[in-house]
Amino acid sequence: MTRAVVLPRPRPEIEALPRYSTASGVATVRWRASSNESAIAPSPAVAEAIARTGTHGHLYPTPFSDDLVAALAERLSVPAAEVLTGAGSLALLQQVLTAFTGPGTEVVHAWRSYEAYPILIGIAGATAVPVPLDAQHRHDIDAMIAAVTSRTRVVLVCSPNNPTGTELSTAELRHLLDSIPAHVLVVLDEAYREFAAGDVDGVELLRAYPNLVVLRTFSKAFGLAGLRAGYAITHSETAGHLRAAAPPFGLSSVAEAAACAALTETAHTDRIVESVRAGRRHLRAELTARGIETPSSGGNFVWIPVGQRAAALEAACVAHGVSVRAFPGEGVRVTVGERAAEDAVLAALNGLTSDLTARRPD
Ligand SMILES: *Cc1c(COP(=O)(O)O)cnc(C)c1O
Repeated sequence: MTRAVVLPRPRPEIEALPRYSTASGVATVRWRASSNESAIAPSPAVAEAIARTGTHGHLYPTPFSDDLVAALAERLSVPAAEVLTGAGSLALLQQVLTAFTGPGTEVVHAWRSYEAYPILIGIAGATAVPVPLDAQHRHDIDAMIAAVTSRTRVVLVCSPNNPTGTELSTAELRHLLDSIPAHVLVVLDEAYREFAAGDVDGVELLRAYPNLVVLRTFSKAFGLAGLRAGYAITHSETAGHLRAAAPPFGLSSVAEAAACAALTETAHTDRIVESVRAGRRHLRAELTARGIETPSSGGNFVWIPVGQRAAALEAACVAHGVSVRAFPGEGVRVTVGERAAEDAVLAALNGLTSDLTARRPD
């Protein structure tokens, strides 16, 4: 006789959460263009810092990554009290949502945007209020302003936006910040800022708008996605609330040392950024030549809005040895920076192009 196993159940919100997806083929393909990783490995100096710190792995780091906070504060010319670190900028976003939202509150964000957003909002027990992108795949700032209610605690802005690559201007961000109540936090996710074409600087905006939280990461332009290091800059009082909402020792000593070393390796970061800019130019030009228009991208990826053909394009890419991120019915996001991977995507497209242009979305 088998007895039914009765297991404890989590909160209903947790059971209902969408799962963070993994791209198809990612474990077996030759090239990974599905997770916006850098194609370039950490520099020798960073690898050396990782190895050296590993030998002290029996010791705790400082609770709030004092060395990295000091290095960032100096580099950004802000007081250390305005800087926080976390195991990736996503951990910091979770701290924001834990500290400032919860059941009965709302978080306004653009959609399509980063797929982790609705998941983290759901974990916090808050209600996500997604606002559709406009026809140019950009945040619809006026619609986001209109979506703010008395229940709104956070407005989450992603610029450059993942997965469409579109950027907001400083004027648009000022318009948003001027139009919403000062007691609502605005989180500006600048994960891709180093690749951006525009001149937006969240830290500069923070001077005029103390209700801003700027999120940045070492995962993209610094090439440390596997080490998990991100940071936030915000008003010192808000920073204190965010520190209170996280377990101490959020950043490992190894990640902290790697991030500190990466900050000084500017030539290496420049190389990553240059390879991304070249890849974007190459891929977008080749797509245009095939009759496929893509939005100009400020990220380390290109958005191919092929609508209903997204799944077919993803399958063709995997067959050509490269993983990409498909959003069924919407499009495909391709990470750039490695010419062979970009060319594999183009080879995949060559077999599909007539089909794709014949059925352009909307
Ligand atoms: C990649 C990415 C991040 C980075 O997350 P980490 O936790 O720092 O690795 C944050 N926001 C967006 C929109 C991203 O695409």
